[in-house]
Amino acid sequence: MTGVSDAFVLFGASGDLAEKKIFSALGRLEASGALPPRLFGVAKSGWQVEQLRDRIRSSLKAHAPDLGAPVVEALCRKFDYLDGDYRDEKTFKTLATQLGQSVAPLFYLAIPPSLFGSVADLLKKNHLTQNARLIVEKPFGRDLASAIELNRTLLGIVPEERLFRIDHYLGKDPVLNLVYFRFANSFLEPVWNNRYIDNIQITMSEKFGVADRAAFYDEVGAVRDVVQNHLLHTLSILAMEPPINATAEANREEKTKILKAISPLVENRIVRGQYQGYLAEKGVRPHSATETFVALETSIETWRWSGVPVFIRAGKCLAITATEIMVQFKKPPISVTHEPFPPGANYIRFRLGPDRVEIGLGARAKRPGPTMVGQPIELLVMRNQAGEEEPYELLLGDAIRGDQNLFTSQEAVEAAWRVVDPILKPEHPIYEYPAGSMGPGEAEALVAQHGGWHNPKDPASGTS
Ligand code: NDP
Repeated sequence: MTGVSDAFVLFGASGDLAEKKIFSALGRLEASGALPPRLFGVAKSGWQVEQLRDRIRSSLKAHAPDLGAPVVEALCRKFDYLDGDYRDEKTFKTLATQLGQSVAPLFYLAIPPSLFGSVADLLKKNHLTQNARLIVEKPFGRDLASAIELNRTLLGIVPEERLFRIDHYLGKDPVLNLVYFRFANSFLEPVWNNRYIDNIQITMSEKFGVADRAAFYDEVGAVRDVVQNHLLHTLSILAMEPPINATAEANREEKTKILKAISPLVENRIVRGQYQGYLAEKGVRPHSATETFVALETSIETWRWSGVPVFIRAGKCLAITATEIMVQFKKPPISVTHEPFPPGANYIRFRLGPDRVEIGLGARAKRPGPTMVGQPIELLVMRNQAGEEEPYELLLGDAIRGDQNLFTSQEAVEAAWRVVDPILKPEHPIYEYPAGSMGPGEAEALVAQHGGWHNPKDPASGTS
């Protein structure tokens, strides 16, 4: 189906995600004239439409204060509210009546995943899905089997080309820039392979702990929360072949090929950690073995990448909040400067945020003076200090227009679960680490032969 959706129905209108992200994105889309004429919020809070509108006003005040009152009020006027339980057929019969003449609605399931099945069934039973698009929020399952089951449920009501699995990370500007930088610069292509690259490291480090998400996080852990989705998808962008054209299909196909080629994780190449004090967090189960840190090694078994180890690390309560990719080049074959080359001298570094976006080119250059002695330097290719754009505006605008480019396909979701599934075990060794460190020392051994982990630096300490 092509064309613009003619109505937008938000299930989960009274929820946290709606308040924090969705209303402000809709406000911006309203400002640019990109919203359908009719919007509905559905929840079971016992609200009237005015209460929904008040929530929208307070959300926009907090999260999009630059939007003027005319835009805010125009958005509020477009919204209707429907109160009802998602497990009750009456809710959907009323919705069908209210949608009236709409022929191509967009349903957004911003609700707990346990309710996806019920909402999907009742939408279909009430003939609401014939031409509809459906957006679902992550998580897309909690392992391979549940992801396959979820896909079966969702694809039972709409076909893949009308299903939009939203992972906001893929709509972030620094992630989009990775794609752009790779394919807009032909100088990278000759060296972007296993002949020149020694290893790849991806670190997603967070200084904060689980805060008010403890109960949610304790069920999930670092592998499911960020590795299976954000970090494996980032790797697929870094490693994919150039798509044959700019269509969503071509782009998604290349990313999926990489996800399918990533080696499934093995127990002896993964280190899990838990920060000291985690068990005392409110909402965490006693004796919980949930990992708040993970470090792992994998590889991509393609002609281009076979033999290049990929190290991924993610954790909470670490020394810094930063996401960084380090593409480490091999050492020159011999030294003609009489100086042995230390490891880690030649690299491309991508800083993906949160407060700055950078691309740095690491090199060695001769120190001034009579001897052939060098020093590490970094050429900063790009720096952007501006605050991060929220990706929901981009993603919801795409879904309204039916553009799937930045949404995850069924094949990609299942391929990524296939990578992590072997290590999703209820029992595993877990090492404590102090808050403010870079995780347990045991993780060092993974990268010892490749010069150790590259730790993202704090701007205050004067990187580059
Ligand atoms: P919340 O628990 O805050 O909100 C859930 C919403 O669903 C509320 O509007 C609630 O209505 C409604 N609801 C729950 N049960 C029923 C029911 N039986 N019938 C009718 N309405 C019901 O969840 P979030 O907003 O935090 O998350 C929504 C989705 O987004 C989840 O899939 C989550 O994983 C995902 N997500 C959330 C993020 C976040 O930062 N919050 C980030 C990324 C993804 P009521 O309030 O009336 O009970």
